[in-house]
Amino acid sequence: MNIFRKYQFYSKEQIELKANEVLRIMEVENFPPKWPFEASRAADALGIMIDWQSIPPDTQGPIVAKILPLQRKIVLNESLPQLSGGFEQSTIAHEIGHWVLHVNQDEADGLTEQLELSLGIEDAAKLFLCRSAGERINQVRMVNQLDKIEWQAQFFAGCLLMPRQILAAKRIGRDLTNWLHLYAMQEDLGVTISNLVYRLQSLGWIYIPKGSKQIYPGKVIPNGQTNLFNQ
Ligand SMILES: [Zn+2]
Repeated sequence: MNIFRKYQFYSKEQIELKANEVLRIMEVENFPPKWPFEASRAADALGIMIDWQSIPPDTQGPIVAKILPLQRKIVLNESLPQLSGGFEQSTIAHEIGHWVLHVNQDEADGLTEQLELSLGIEDAAKLFLCRSAGERINQVRMVNQLDKIEWQAQFFAGCLLMPRQILAAKRIGRDLTNWLHLYAMQEDLGVTISNLVYRLQSLGWIYIPKGSKQIYPGKVIPNGQTNLFNQ
């Protein structure tokens, strides 16, 4: 038995479907999603607790959050003042991503007592010490499996916080190549600007060359067709 699933590849489409499934559960469980997004409502819908504790840094640096699958708990680091606003939402959504994609939920639900006795909570939770969840990870280079797991959780967070149809509604009357408009959308959605830009680029709605601040229209327009006029 293992509380964590073995590493597996998920396509972007598969991760988006998993995030949409959580949005559906939120509706069913009477915590319907609303924007600016409150990720704690997704946790409530899934029966996951959110707790704030001081998490000391370890030898590899600061820890933003962790997930304790056996306790169905996400712990956010109360010692980090920057863990608020959009970064807080993104971090909670990221941890929910770990819960959905990486925790062996049958084991977590069924074998709680046994695992608590034999492994100890901290050992079981070790894999899910999240460091820079939400910000730098958007640009992370995936060199090992842990990086890929972190990328998956963060991509899930983007899909949960910013579903396509919500983005399509929020972009009406706005110019995606104008930073001021993006900042207004970011406020509406309750995410960080970095979350929004990463999501829009991964959808192909905008394109920002590396090292540049100039935003170009993407290759895809929201109805899924190629934007022939701007390319
Ligand atoms: Zn993580």
